[in-house]
Amino acid sequence: MNPIYAALGTTIFTTMSGLATELGAINLGQGFPETDGFPEVRADAARAVMADSNQYAPMKGTAALRDAVAGFYGRTQGLSLDPAREVLITSGATEALAAALFALISPGDEVIVFEPMYDAYAPLIERAGGVVVRIRLSPPDWRFTEGQLTAAFSPRTKAVLLTTPNNPTTRLISREHWALLARFCAQHQAYVISDEVWEQVVFDGVRHVGVLNVPELTGLGVKIGSAGKIFALTGWKVGFVCASEALVTQIAKAHQFLTFATPPMLQTAVAFGLNLPDARFSDAVAELQRSRDLLMAGLEAEGFCTLPAEGTYFLNIDLPESGIALSATDFALRAVREVGVATIPLEAFCASGGLPLPVVRLCFAKSDATLQRGIEALKRARRLFV
Ligand code: GLN
Repeated sequence: MNPIYAALGTTIFTTMSGLATELGAINLGQGFPETDGFPEVRADAARAVMADSNQYAPMKGTAALRDAVAGFYGRTQGLSLDPAREVLITSGATEALAAALFALISPGDEVIVFEPMYDAYAPLIERAGGVVVRIRLSPPDWRFTEGQLTAAFSPRTKAVLLTTPNNPTTRLISREHWALLARFCAQHQAYVISDEVWEQVVFDGVRHVGVLNVPELTGLGVKIGSAGKIFALTGWKVGFVCASEALVTQIAKAHQFLTFATPPMLQTAVAFGLNLPDARFSDAVAELQRSRDLLMAGLEAEGFCTLPAEGTYFLNIDLPESGIALSATDFALRAVREVGVATIPLEAFCASGGLPLPVVRLCFAKSDATLQRGIEALKRARRLFV
């Protein structure tokens, strides 16, 4: 058995969703919308299942979807991508990450990551033979510094793997921080694998700046997107890789031996969805922002201290600032068992044995009624735990 997997448990998302089901708790843990997203996109997939081919799609994705991805990023992020050469369709962003890592790093290469980070990153890097180099970020600003980059980069640095907007911190990388990071990456010729699956879930009129918007990273940047987050259909697992032709060609070689191709009817429907008018997307994000505000106001009224929530489906609670002297893991386990609400402890996004991180993450992509029940449950938790 491979020791990397032998040492791992099931993911925190599976554990907390399992506990929520078992205990009948409100599930504000694993990040998925309570109701399925864009009905017109689902209807197009249903039509395509019957009307179109259900056989293998082209390995790099259908021409219609690659065109739609390039067009969408042209309109929304000012990118100019060649759909035939600079776009690859994968079976979800996690497959895209795996393919990028397998294709770009070799055993012994160092990959810099920022903790807390999405739980899949370290096992994927290690299984690809890479060495994980962690930069630890702290609330409430969760920003990296030049000093941290200086300490982390080495002659063995091959790549940086990051997330913007970030799950779980919700923060966006600013132009200034991109410029700082780009200086180091250009000097070391390190790739930047940028997980941008939350790019459309950004609040308060702020603009997402992705890796391909940074001119100093030309030829080094790999942008990863996902239909699951754009259309609130997390089960679909349709991802996109956008990068230079040389990088896409190399990453496609890994993809062809991972999943080879992605279900064609879903690609058809995602292409249809990406061509919807801009207002359709702004309405969806406005609805999520309203849910964020509802949860934030409800929790603040009960004495919880929430951290800034710039994007994603998530709102974080600072436990010590809320007067709760429990670790995030203890809080999450007690809250699901004693008051019936599932949350995600941010410690799960850090290496075991790391510094304490007493912050819990709540998913607000839920109905108002569910959010209200969650607030009531957390109110009871605060009474019990303070
Ligand atoms: N992205 C989801 C989250 O952050 C989890 C996906 C999963 O369960 N692997 O909650």
